[in-house]
Amino acid sequence: MLPYARQSVDEEDIAAVVRVLHGDLLTTGPEVPAFEAAFAEYVGAPYAIACSSGTAALHLACLALGLEPGDQVIVPTISFVATANCARYCGADVIFCDVDPDSGLATAETVREAMDRADHGKLKAVFVVHMTGAAVDLARISSLTKNAGIALIEDACHSLGTRYDIEPGRQGIVGDCALSDFAVFSFHPVKTITTGEGGMITTRDPKAAERLARARNHGLIRSPEDWVEKSMAFDPVDGEPNPWFYEQQDIGYNYRLTDIQAALGRSQLRKLPMFVDRRRQLAARYRRQAASLGPCARLVSSAQNPDAVLHLMVALIDFENVGLTRREVMLRLRDRGIGSQVHYIPIHRQPYYRERSATPDLPGASRYYDRCLSLPFYPDMTADDVSTVCSVLSDVLG
Ligand SMILES: *Cc1c(COP(=O)(O)O)cnc(C)c1O
Repeated sequence: MLPYARQSVDEEDIAAVVRVLHGDLLTTGPEVPAFEAAFAEYVGAPYAIACSSGTAALHLACLALGLEPGDQVIVPTISFVATANCARYCGADVIFCDVDPDSGLATAETVREAMDRADHGKLKAVFVVHMTGAAVDLARISSLTKNAGIALIEDACHSLGTRYDIEPGRQGIVGDCALSDFAVFSFHPVKTITTGEGGMITTRDPKAAERLARARNHGLIRSPEDWVEKSMAFDPVDGEPNPWFYEQQDIGYNYRLTDIQAALGRSQLRKLPMFVDRRRQLAARYRRQAASLGPCARLVSSAQNPDAVLHLMVALIDFENVGLTRREVMLRLRDRGIGSQVHYIPIHRQPYYRERSATPDLPGASRYYDRCLSLPFYPDMTADDVSTVCSVLSDVLG
């Protein structure tokens, strides 16, 4: 069976985890800061804060922005539910924006349309999702958010390794935060590198980095210069900080990554250049074979972007013209050993969000959702596997 996605974990990764298990510190040891430093260097951001999942990373970003009940944020409706849920954790309301029907990406136009539906003064942030691994047009979208004086957060869970245009003639790598406040990554096993569960936030703002690190660890402050309860914190005689003391000034969570996970992450990160090459090769193979899928199916347009390191290989299929439902196609693929999945159901159609706000028809998202099917795509696939997927799919589609 070829699943739609799968981790690549080798003996080196396993040895890195075992080394931590033989040591003294299973959590809050040296592996987490080492993983953070290596990750920050890879994406070219000054600060990277590791945490327990991509969802936790999204929540921490919302906390660092200070989102509160009554605030509003814009989220593309084609994403995993976590991109919207994180704002709800802070009580903020979500306004869903549409996406381009052929790439699944939010555009400057769809973001602007959603901004027109928001309440001036309440809108605090725009989230964008680099869906499938292809970058949104950050240059144009960030000029909208800058003009409005609101934050821009990249949900980069699909796009580790992807390059994008900061401006004409100057490229960045997703996560460098050249145009955004935060970029958020996930290390779930289906993502480009894995820690089992895990996440990372990158930023250029040192104050925000500090807030993120505190909120990840119960809101505790360990640096004596920031303590306000001086009489409890310091010895009355010599004025030295008390060795047991810690202080909480804001609410925080336990969103820490363990050293066991960070060791796996650091080992996986060393293989990222290899994963990136492999994903590019497999994507090129899919592109060459896509013509064989027939007139009713093609690859998502973002698959044509050569600077993208794709996480998903999405086919867009006109099921009506094929004369089969998506369910029938998925079951027939499964019977022939090929896994597939749908990324994603538009979030605004979930009952939880329907009950909270009326979203107008978002035709780009509907058109994307009606046609999308994620095909097997992961580094351990062979070129022959890609050919098998394409020939079986074209067979099923008739
Ligand atoms: C995976 C994913 C998340 C959530 O990450 P977890 O690590 O599973 O919490 C959020 N957004 C997108 C776009 C994702 O793909």
